[in-house]
Order: sequence, then structure tokens, then C-alpha cells
Amino acid sequence: MVTADRSWMMLFAVLGLTFGSFGMVLVSRLPAGQHIGGRSRCPRCKHMLGAVELIPVLSYVLLAGKCRHCHRPISCLYPCVELLSALLFVLALFLAKSPLPSLLLALSLWMLLLIAVMDLRTQTIHDALNLSFILFAVAYAVAIGRLEMGGPLLLVFFFGAQWLVSRGRWVGSGDILLGAGIGVLLGGFGSSLLCLGLAYVIGAVVAVFLLLTKRATRKSHIPFGPFLAAATLLMIIFGDRMLPVIVPGLL
Ligand SMILES: [Zn+2]
Repeated sequence: MVTADRSWMMLFAVLGLTFGSFGMVLVSRLPAGQHIGGRSRCPRCKHMLGAVELIPVLSYVLLAGKCRHCHRPISCLYPCVELLSALLFVLALFLAKSPLPSLLLALSLWMLLLIAVMDLRTQTIHDALNLSFILFAVAYAVAIGRLEMGGPLLLVFFFGAQWLVSRGRWVGSGDILLGAGIGVLLGGFGSSLLCLGLAYVIGAVVAVFLLLTKRATRKSHIPFGPFLAAATLLMIIFGDRMLPVIVPGLL
């Protein structure tokens, strides 16, 4: 089995770190309408970064989290996203077990991470991320022979109806595309329904925590994308065990 092979794990971890690093380029540049090609620069002093400053995680540790030129702090989001991305790649290898489905699942989860980070930072999800997510999810579903319409239709209808009724105030159009990708990735109607329920439970718990600790008020807008992404990851890992217990009639 491929997943038991240490060299495959190393390869997926390195791929995950590299994609994580590129992912932060996408998350920082896409909302600003910047070109995604070209060398990265320090967001504060604009100094062009050298090769030694571009090694995922390691550069951050070696530079003690500060820019080498202006000495101002670099956001810890960079190494966090790189590490999380590496973890997701290795997780995908364990879950999908063979190379191509593992890579496609890894890319889907990587894109989901970027969507959650972008939604947290800017309260919007760029179409390029959503469309890439849908593409990776469809490719994964085809690779494992489980392309179903029940899940995507449920989530597109659920978010689409809210978007129409509220004229885009309750949910953004990005949530509809995100729902389509999640539905494809999870497959059946039952999985998507459970994912939606989980996302609302996680969202409610986080909202109560933020209100109690006064980090948010009743008027604060809390993006829903990160909760959907967290619920999707839980479904990918534990869905097969949770579904028969929670929604047996929908299997
Ligand atoms: Zn700098």
C-alpha cells in the first residue's frame, strides 16, 4: 500500500509545504488584483525576497519571524498555512491510499484551506479559488468513481435560495460555488446534509465563544467559509463512521 511507504509520505509532505507557500501568494495577491507571477516581496518594505527567504517554514524559523531587511514581523499565517497544507497532503495520502486520488484529494483540501483563509482575511472568496476547488473535487470524484449529484444540488440549492431571498446579504455568491465543490467532494446527499449541520454547530460554538470573550459583537460579520471548510474536513475523515449513526435514512 502506497500510504505505508515513507518516501511517498515525504514526497507528499514536501509537495504540501510547497503548495502551502504558493497558496499564501494566491491568498495575498488575488484579492488585491495583483499578478500571481513574479518573486515575492516583503509586504512592508517591498524588498524582493531571496532564495533563502522563500523556503517554506524554515525561512520563518531562521529569520525568527522577521523580515531580513526592515526587521518588522512577518505574519505567522505564512508558516501556519504551509504546515497545515503539508498535513493535509499527508492526510490525503492516508485517506485515498493510491497516488492519483491522493494527489487530487490533497489539492482539493489545499484549495479548501486557502478558501477558508481568504474568507477569514477578506470576507470574500475569489472565484479563481472556488472554480479550482470544484475542478479538483470533480477530478477526485471521477478518479474514485463516485461522482454524484445529490450533494452538490442540495448545497447549491440551499445557498442559492438564501442568496436570492436576501439579495446577497446572508450569503455571498462565493458560498454557492463553495457549496457545489463541497457537495462534489463529499458525494451523496446525506454527507452534504450532515456537513451543513456540522458547519452550523461549529459556527454557533465559535460565535458564542467570540461573544463571551468580547472579541465580537452581535453586529460583527463572521464569515461562514471557514466553518464549512472545517465541517468538510471532519466529514472527509470521520464521515463514513458518523453518517450511519446520524442520518441512516439518507444513506
Ligand atoms: Zn521588510
